[in-house]
Amino acid sequence: MPSSRSAKAAPRRERRRAGDSCRRLEGVGPKLADKLAALGIESIGDVLLHRPLRYEDRSRVTPVAEIIPHGMPVIAVVRVDAAEVRHGRRRSLLVSTSDGGGRLWLRFFHFAPAQQAKFAPGAWLRVFGEPRGGVYGTEIVHPEYQVVADAAAGHDFVPELRAVYPATSGVTQNRLRDMAAQALALLEMPDFWPDALPPDIAAELSAGGPVMAVDAALRMIHRPGPNVDLAALIDGSHPAVTRLAFEELLGHQLGLRSRRRRIKTEKAPALGDAGQGLAPLFEQLGFSPTNAQRRVIGEILADMATRHPMLRLIQGDVGSGKTVVAAAAVLTAIENGWQAAFMAPTELLAEQHHANLAGWLEPLGISVLLVTGRRRRDDAVLAPIRDGTPAVVVGTHALFQESLDFGRLGLCVIDEQHRFGVDQRLALRNKAARHGLSAHQLIMTATPIPRTLAMSAYADLDTSIIDELPPGRTPVVTVAVPNTRRDEVIERIGRAVAEGRQVYWVCTLIETTDKLEAQAAEAAAEALSVALPDVQVTLAHGRMKPAAKQKAMNAFKAGHIDVLVATTVIEVGVDVPNASLMIIENAERLGLAQLHQLRGRVGRGSVESHCVLLYQPPLSETARRRLSVLRDTGDGFAIARADLELRGPGEVLGTRQTGAASFRIADLVRDGVWVERALAVADDVLAYHPREAELLVERWAGGGGGYAGV
Ligand code: ADP
Ligand code: MG
Repeated sequence: MPSSRSAKAAPRRERRRAGDSCRRLEGVGPKLADKLAALGIESIGDVLLHRPLRYEDRSRVTPVAEIIPHGMPVIAVVRVDAAEVRHGRRRSLLVSTSDGGGRLWLRFFHFAPAQQAKFAPGAWLRVFGEPRGGVYGTEIVHPEYQVVADAAAGHDFVPELRAVYPATSGVTQNRLRDMAAQALALLEMPDFWPDALPPDIAAELSAGGPVMAVDAALRMIHRPGPNVDLAALIDGSHPAVTRLAFEELLGHQLGLRSRRRRIKTEKAPALGDAGQGLAPLFEQLGFSPTNAQRRVIGEILADMATRHPMLRLIQGDVGSGKTVVAAAAVLTAIENGWQAAFMAPTELLAEQHHANLAGWLEPLGISVLLVTGRRRRDDAVLAPIRDGTPAVVVGTHALFQESLDFGRLGLCVIDEQHRFGVDQRLALRNKAARHGLSAHQLIMTATPIPRTLAMSAYADLDTSIIDELPPGRTPVVTVAVPNTRRDEVIERIGRAVAEGRQVYWVCTLIETTDKLEAQAAEAAAEALSVALPDVQVTLAHGRMKPAAKQKAMNAFKAGHIDVLVATTVIEVGVDVPNASLMIIENAERLGLAQLHQLRGRVGRGSVESHCVLLYQPPLSETARRRLSVLRDTGDGFAIARADLELRGPGEVLGTRQTGAASFRIADLVRDGVWVERALAVADDVLAYHPREAELLVERWAGGGGGYAGV
């Protein structure tokens, strides 16, 4: 019902700011504040940024004859004819009412005698609720109602489109509305929520036309007036939402950029060309780096040669050869007498990197260490690292361990950054802080990130793209086949093996343990051996001892094994050009990025490669679309774009901690165009409107995002 709250919440004389705790609102105590925190509401400003999910139309009275049962909730003004308690299956109070044009039944399962007394014949009511078809006709169960003097009084109310908020247990809609009403009243105070969008920047938003003021936008969201396009408010295309989304994107961007500026003013060791250059490394490789690799290495070395920390993101599709690029950076750091840390998200990947780097760098006299959760090193090994002996330490997040101290850390390489949070990235950085010199940072991602997303999640980083695959890679022909045709697939394996080719069979299980996945792989290997007795089948999974796993991989690489049955452990790091057929079991369970990664293991030789996506029917709509994207393209960027559309940014980035996914108003998919605009104006705001910039960062990126405070 229309409320009289706004009168009650008239602003007090005391000064209030949007950043004040929401506990300064009436009726918000410590217990409620805890629950509100779960909704992301901590300050009064957060109350205003808590965007309604939808709106209830309480703007007009619907004549009873026009009420459609099962439609939207309605307001009706009716007169009571009779009220009586019915003892049906469930006891209820049934009130028969009419507005002269039609009959409306009101039903209450919970009622008090006092309530019953209100429904005296002849009394007028204004009711609100969701009509449904009842036994006698249209009825509303537990309507909100108010007794009014007469029909005219019933029609006399303030029309309202009432916001319905995302809520949580213990936080009612009424409570949220009351808080919003108080916060909106405070919005009237000067300085409570200063407009932080400089006018010339705001003009960008509307191609020169008038732009909605921030307070008007907030009022619009919480209290849309009559004739407002509610659908647009809900789907986010309304100018009020756009106004706020743009401000948020800009604030976020400014937060990242000021963080970047701060880091860029720190001192770092200048790691220039120390004489030999990279020639000795290139001799070890056994192949010649691609032009793209050479260009990116050049960009990295230019950064490292300056006296300020490098902050660089390397993007390159699966198999584009990022490890070599990182190795060049590592070698440069070490030749300058500094240490490098190389962090990978999984043990297996760390082992692979360790093997690669050791193969390339140990012949040059460089020590390459491995530190993972499973392979903790004793003090004899770690002491030289603490003392600053130049070396590269490869590892998982075990590299953060307190006990692992770098005496002279000059470079951090982080592989597959999207699996780590920003916090982890920073923790590793802090390992270097001891000397007053910061380490250079190189971040690599195999999942190509769509531009809008990359720019918003990694705006603090410079980007290099390896946009060329090593020569000799052939496109992979991909088909999706239902599990019911498994036998045909097995026959096909037999034929491929007879032609001297090698095959990967990948078992996937989602949300299960290594153990179950390992069991599935064992069962599949067993079945294949039975079906194809002449074929050499072997297993590789995460539960095997590293040595046994390595042995299996080596045998496969050497061509002694025809079929490698693996769990998703082979997602990374295996390179067998003669393997030209891959079967992915339960492909419908994996995400696009992971499928793309897996498939990247074939197509490395000169013969045409095939990938069979074996799925368990029936396919969900998204799974069907995922598989068809994969069938239609091998371009990692196109796949990433589709992934973003299918899953949304939070999932694509792999973790909500990256900050990019936790926008309150903005939506990276919906607001892609505003991301671009925010990027375009961010530097101008920093340069010409520093006060507003500070305000925007504080308002939008100051809290949980973790960027501004770092
Ligand atoms: P990414 O990490 O980008 O997916 P990797 O660094 O693992 O790729 O490289 C994939 C494979 O390609 C490795 O076996 C690597 O040795 C090989 N490789 C890298 N660069 C080249 C190149 N320029 N020519 C031939 N092979 C290369
Ligand atoms: Mg890699």
